[in-house]
Amino acid sequence: MQKRVGVLALQGAFREHRQVLNQLGCEAVEVRKKNDLEGIHGLIIPGGESTTIGKLLQIDELGERIKEMGSKDFPIFGTCAGMILLSKTIIDSDQYRLNLMDTTVERNAFGRQVASFETDLQVPAMGSHPLRAVFIRAPYLREVAPNVGILAEFDGKIVFARQGNLLASAFHPELTPDHRVHQYFLGMIDEYWVK
Ligand code: GLN
Repeated sequence: MQKRVGVLALQGAFREHRQVLNQLGCEAVEVRKKNDLEGIHGLIIPGGESTTIGKLLQIDELGERIKEMGSKDFPIFGTCAGMILLSKTIIDSDQYRLNLMDTTVERNAFGRQVASFETDLQVPAMGSHPLRAVFIRAPYLREVAPNVGILAEFDGKIVFARQGNLLASAFHPELTPDHRVHQYFLGMIDEYWVK
């Protein structure tokens, strides 16, 4: 199946995701309004500033449409700010969110001094070779419901998780040449569309 994958392009690191998707042979569609959601097979919500993206999602109810699709098993992958927007609970914040994952997220969770760093993550679902992960003022999941699968932890903190059709990473897989995370998400798209 030739996949068309949407990348929410309101703010943040959407171009890099588009490039990875193209390298993996997919068509990438920049999503800025409700019409852009038509005909796509999955959606990536990039890193950026979750409060800004949240404000822009409320224009013309774009966020409500995405929320409706996500609640009907449509594949969505949120990275960093995207992880924050997917979570139902955001510690100490009443900012707009898509409210889809049964997760409690803490923003800017790795402290100000080491706000950005790179590390090797063990992600058993993606093989034994560690995954290089770039964290930029990253969140982490402080709590997840039993129906959420933990894909990776760093320093005892959950940084990568999946709940059915929803995937969330605290790090930026679009910034490294290893495309296993995007490939994994494309596998989720296949699961949904190729039945
Ligand atoms: N700290 C940002 C936020 O809270 C997320 C950072 C990122 O997406 N790289 O929205």
